[in-house]
Amino acid sequence: MKFSEMKYKRLDVKSVLAEYEKITDAVSDAQSFDEVLAAIARHESLLAEAQTMMTLAEIRASIDTTDEFYEAEKAFYDENEPVFEEKLQEFMLALYQCDFVDRLKEKYGELLFINMEMMLKTFSPAIIGDLQRENALVTEYQKLVASAQISFRGETLNISELGKYKHDADRQVRRAAYEAEGGFYLEHSGELDRIFDELVKCRSLIAEKLGFESFTQLAYYRRTRNCYNAEMVKKFREMVVSDIMPIAVGLKERQRERIGVDKLYFYDDVFSFKEGNPKPQGTPGDILAAGRKMYEEMSPETAEFIDFMYSNELLDVVAKKGKAVGGYCTTLMKYKAPFIFSNFNGTSGDVDVLTHEAGHAFAAYMAKDFELIELMNPTMESCECHSMSMEFFAWKWLPLFYGEDFKRAQLEHLADCVTFIPYGSMVDHFQHIMYDEPELTPAQRNEKWAQLEKIYRPYVDFDGLPFYGEGRGWQRQIHIYEYPFYYIDYCLAQTVALKFWALSQKDYADAWHRYTAFVREGGRKTFTQLCETAGIEDPFTAGSLKDAAKTAQQFLENI
Ligand SMILES: [Zn+2]
Repeated sequence: MKFSEMKYKRLDVKSVLAEYEKITDAVSDAQSFDEVLAAIARHESLLAEAQTMMTLAEIRASIDTTDEFYEAEKAFYDENEPVFEEKLQEFMLALYQCDFVDRLKEKYGELLFINMEMMLKTFSPAIIGDLQRENALVTEYQKLVASAQISFRGETLNISELGKYKHDADRQVRRAAYEAEGGFYLEHSGELDRIFDELVKCRSLIAEKLGFESFTQLAYYRRTRNCYNAEMVKKFREMVVSDIMPIAVGLKERQRERIGVDKLYFYDDVFSFKEGNPKPQGTPGDILAAGRKMYEEMSPETAEFIDFMYSNELLDVVAKKGKAVGGYCTTLMKYKAPFIFSNFNGTSGDVDVLTHEAGHAFAAYMAKDFELIELMNPTMESCECHSMSMEFFAWKWLPLFYGEDFKRAQLEHLADCVTFIPYGSMVDHFQHIMYDEPELTPAQRNEKWAQLEKIYRPYVDFDGLPFYGEGRGWQRQIHIYEYPFYYIDYCLAQTVALKFWALSQKDYADAWHRYTAFVREGGRKTFTQLCETAGIEDPFTAGSLKDAAKTAQQFLENI
């Protein structure tokens, strides 16, 4: 069905909640396995309907932020979703506790129930007040950052508007932009310190009330990390330092030569080419046409997928007045339809929409006929494997987007990937320290960050910049405040993507075959099991980063 023809109707929340109560009781009182299965089937259709109506309202409100109708609908769901969520959890709990749970495990696999068990451990009515406090602190941080009004060269800019000057070809402009940004954060450093301190203490208290040793452990449960623990992540970070970081240092040295500076300072970090970063050619229409051609040629599965996306209007990517900022990929469950939203702006980010976001959409498309919605998506790091790997499988077709400039686009992509992994690991390491030692003072926290910079990014020289040069750079990394412990996911996924890339350099068809084996499983397996399915070593295996990192290094040296 075309997106424009998808009919929206406000969810009758009262009747949905009543139905949920009915099927939850049906599961608890079930006399036969068939009764349980019937309740599950009803739940799946209720969930698909509810999810689709909420998502339709959200998408349409983001396509036109001036549309009052969908704005009101969205507000309606913001208010009602928590109640719905609660009923959903009660239903899940009933399944988990029902007499037929063993037969359910046999039918749907054990993993679903392991995940449920993890989820149940993260909540107790005793922490409701603390959760509200945690949310309020996160909101306070968001508001503080969003409030930035930075005077810069005669303009008043917010943080994201200032961003383009951080990429300016003029080095002095870049420095000034970082100085201005750092100035804003520094001006609010007292609040930033206090909010974080309260967050650490609040989260630690929640963990204590739930019986966890530290918040770290709880955070792993919250993120449904069902196949790795903090100890394994620590080993992964150590491999990043020994196997990836030295290559990143080499890449930064070459970047310094390329852009022609004596010393690479922090404000040169994102400036990859003297002549500016590679940009896609042509109109948004040309980029979309290139995307279609790419997926048609890539494989029969992607050809079917892209035809479905384009013929059903499931991409809204051209910037228009009134559209919300940013980009996302979501799914309309009832129609088994992924949807991609973005704002093309003439940068390489436009191509990423058709490779990264479409990678997520492709995975959703491959899982669309699964019996249970709950089994469609794996955990976050695995979802990012879908998208980040697709970015590399798209390499063959980059000339369609960049013309002769495609080699520079490849170099930038691969180099960014290699240098990101140590940075992301640093963010993760920092968070582990913060929650292992919740009593650190703000000054000690900054000291820790500055020490980590020397381990993970020894090439960075801050040139005395305010804020950044004082070990405070972590305060602008929103994940540290808003999504605790969500960052290593990107590093793990980037490592897997790098492996698929290295394989694709040797034998594209074989690499693609392994990738689709990974994707096809949806959420039926854990991250490490998915790696095994694809026949690649998971990133926790000793020495597993070396090969791919070496292939990347050789490639970059020869380009
Ligand atoms: Zn993604």
